[in-house]
Amino acid sequence: MDFALDELHSTIQKTARAFAQNEVLPHATSWDREERFPKEIVPKLSELGFLGIRIPEEYGGSGLATLAYSIIVEEIARADGSLALTVASHNGLGTAHILAFGDEGQKKRWLPRLATGEMLGAWALTEPGSGSDAAGMATTAVRRGDRWVLNGTKMFITQGSVGGVCVVLALTTPERKQRGITAFAVEHGTPGMRPSKHLEKLGMRSSDTVELVFEDVEIGDDQRLGALDMGFIDTLKILDRGRVSIASLALGLGEAALDMAVRYAKDRKQFGKPISDFQAIQWMVADMRTELDAARLLVWRAAVLADSGERYSREASMAKLYASEVATRACNKALQIHGGYGYTREFVVERHLRDAKLCEIGEGTSEVQRLVIARSILNVA
Ligand SMILES: Cc1cc2nc3c(=O)[nH]c(=O)nc-3n(C[C@H](O)[C@H](O)[C@H](O)COP(=O)(O)OP(=O)(O)OC[C@H]3O[C@@H](n4cnc5c(N)ncnc54)[C@H](O)[C@@H]3O)c2cc1C
Repeated sequence: MDFALDELHSTIQKTARAFAQNEVLPHATSWDREERFPKEIVPKLSELGFLGIRIPEEYGGSGLATLAYSIIVEEIARADGSLALTVASHNGLGTAHILAFGDEGQKKRWLPRLATGEMLGAWALTEPGSGSDAAGMATTAVRRGDRWVLNGTKMFITQGSVGGVCVVLALTTPERKQRGITAFAVEHGTPGMRPSKHLEKLGMRSSDTVELVFEDVEIGDDQRLGALDMGFIDTLKILDRGRVSIASLALGLGEAALDMAVRYAKDRKQFGKPISDFQAIQWMVADMRTELDAARLLVWRAAVLADSGERYSREASMAKLYASEVATRACNKALQIHGGYGYTREFVVERHLRDAKLCEIGEGTSEVQRLVIARSILNVA
């Protein structure tokens, strides 16, 4: 067993870290304050191959494994949670669904444009009335000849207004509930599809999050992804890898918080000495390092399992559950170590704390992760 990264993954880590620290970090706080999606960074993400991480080279992607994806998301998150969420959701949800379940024609139609950033991917499962109970959706797709007509409202959709193609889950056989849901790829700009509300959020403020409305949106059967009525079952597989990326995002935020806390604790003097001399501060730092290392082991295990062909839903949920709760704790402790200054917007730590909280909610709340883990252990439905 080897816990060190090989040469390829070390190089990817260095490249992603240099990009994040030099080209993202200097702007991240202003993007957050402006609550603006930074579209100017998209060409650079594409140039580095970060928009087609798992897309095979034949479709213009980087053809990398899930561990590389995890490392890239973590490094970007150290600088900016919002941009990391963009990269994670673009690669791990919309693009991943087309990659995993699209036919050859669909892959050729969308993957090259997703890899270059000409299009960003969105993925629309959640609705105003169905979140954790995602299969309780109300959006419908009704067949008319070789066409489909979609009607419904999706909620909290990342890249919902800046995206180019959105994978939409809709009921095709409503009486069969979760076995009657199908996925469709709908290009932004299709008549009847429109973002109806930009959501103002606690954190992840420069990530685009909208409510998306579908009113008599007509698309061809060649935009159906995967088998009829199998969309929800496919979705569960997409969410497994997606959860690894949210766990990686959390890890990046937590690591950044620890770095900031250590720097500040060595610099800040009270009672005539650096506050790092106080045991109370030392214990917080020790807990942060220990929990982040434990989270990393869970995250990298899940990332490696994701490409092994074995089932890894439990491990993905464990990684997401633990890493996201550790990240919030680490950011909270880092803010505490910064004292009153941590509570101001002068220091980045408050942004990381706000961003970290999303990791306990998006792609399944912590409660849902505990359900997945418990059910897999107890073997109950
Ligand atoms: C910034 C952001 C980006 C997002 N991006 C996307 C996206 O791109 N695409 C997309 O489809 N969705 C997206 N989501 C939606 C996200 O996945 C949901 O918010 C999440 O799954 C929770 O659903 P909900 O908000 O409806 O909460 P609810 O399901 O209403 O949950 C409310 C509370 O009840 C708890 N709860 C619910 N059911 C149970 C249960 N059985 N047992 C115990 N507790 C339970 C929950 O854990 C939570 O604490 C995003 C959300 C946010 C905030």
